[in-house]
Amino acid sequence: MNAFMPRIEITLSQIEHNARTLSELYGQQGISLMGVSKAVLGEPLIAEAMIRGGVKFIADSRLENIQRMRNARISAQFVLLRTAPSQAESVIESVDISLNTELDTLEKLNYYAACRNKIHQIILMVEMGDLREGIMPDDIFLFIKQVLDLPQLKIIGLGCNLACYGGIKPDEQKMRQLSALTDAVEKRFQISLPLISGGNSANYEWYKSTKNVGRINNLRLGESILLGCETVQGQAIPKLHTNAFKLIAEVIESKVKPSLPFGEIGRDAFGNIPVFRSTYPKGDRDRHRRAIVALGKQDTLISGLSPNQDLKILGSSSDHLLLDCKNSYLKVGVGVNFNLDYGSLLTAMTSPFIKKQFIQ
Ligand SMILES: *Cc1c(COP(=O)(O)O)cnc(C)c1O
Repeated sequence: MNAFMPRIEITLSQIEHNARTLSELYGQQGISLMGVSKAVLGEPLIAEAMIRGGVKFIADSRLENIQRMRNARISAQFVLLRTAPSQAESVIESVDISLNTELDTLEKLNYYAACRNKIHQIILMVEMGDLREGIMPDDIFLFIKQVLDLPQLKIIGLGCNLACYGGIKPDEQKMRQLSALTDAVEKRFQISLPLISGGNSANYEWYKSTKNVGRINNLRLGESILLGCETVQGQAIPKLHTNAFKLIAEVIESKVKPSLPFGEIGRDAFGNIPVFRSTYPKGDRDRHRRAIVALGKQDTLISGLSPNQDLKILGSSSDHLLLDCKNSYLKVGVGVNFNLDYGSLLTAMTSPFIKKQFIQ
C-alpha cells in the first residue's frame, strides 16, 4: 500500500532541535524567542515542538490559528502579530499579547478588555523603513500618551519588523535606533518596557556581527525554526536542519516527448502567451524523458520547490507539474521528493489536497 500523495512529511524532532539551537544561540545575549506558527497554520504538534525546544511565546498573524492551538490545549503565551479591529473581542478572549499600530484598534481592545475585566498586553510596532506595519518614530510619543489613557491596556514593549515588504535589512543602525527610542520612551513617560522585539529571521546577520544587542531582548522567528535558514541572504544557519519538511507527490505520466511544444502558440491555462527556449544545444536532444507529477499551482507555490534528485521543473498548470527527468527514469506511481522554501511551505500547508504526515 502506497502512502497518500501528495503529502508533506514533517519531522518534529528536527523542528524541536532548530528551536533549541536558536534559543541557545540567541539566549547567549539575553534574547528570548517567539516561535512563529503562521506558515504551518498554527499546527499544534509543531507549536509543541517549538515549545519543547525552548521558545517562550507562540506568535501567529491569524487569530484562527491561535484559537486552534488554544483548543488543542497548547500552553504558551500567545502573541497576535496582526490585529484587526473587527476581531477585537476575540483577541481579548484568546490572545495574551498583540502587536499594534492603530489607536482605533486599541480603543476597541480597551473596550472589550474592560467588558471582561482583563488587562491586555500590547507591543507597539515602530516603522523603521520597511514600510509594512509601524508607527512613525516621530509620532510615537503622542501615540503612547494617548494609549496611556486606555486603562485596560498595558504597553509591555516596542517592536519592529524589517525585511518583509521593502527588503530593508535589520542592521546595527536600525537596532540602535530602536534601543534609543525605547530609552527615550521610558524616560519620558516613566514606564518600563520589558520586551523589545527587534525582528524576525532576517536578524541573524545583525546578531552574529553586533558587539552589543542594546535593548533588543526578543525576536520572532518562523522561517529560521522551520526551515533552518536566515532570510537576508537565504543561507542555512549552521547546525540547523533545513529539511524538516518534505513534499512528496506522485508521478502520473512518464514518457519520451519533444522538449518544446509543437503547433501554433496561443494562450496557456492562465491566459499568458508562453515563450519556450530549449535548454538543450540546438539539434542535440529534441526529445527527452518527461514526467508529470500530480501537483499544481492550486496546491503550492511551484517556484519555491526544489527536487531532491537531479530533475528539472519545467513548469506547471493548476494540477500538473512537468519535470525534465534528465538521466533518471521515473516510473508511474512513484513519489518524487521536493524541498520547500517559505512560500511553498505556507501554501502547501494551506492546501486541503496535501496530507500532513508527522514523523516523530
Ligand atoms: C511572519 C512574521 C514574523 C516571522 O518572520 P520569519 O521571517 O518567518 O521569521 C515575525 N514578525 C512578524 C510581525 C511577522 O508577521
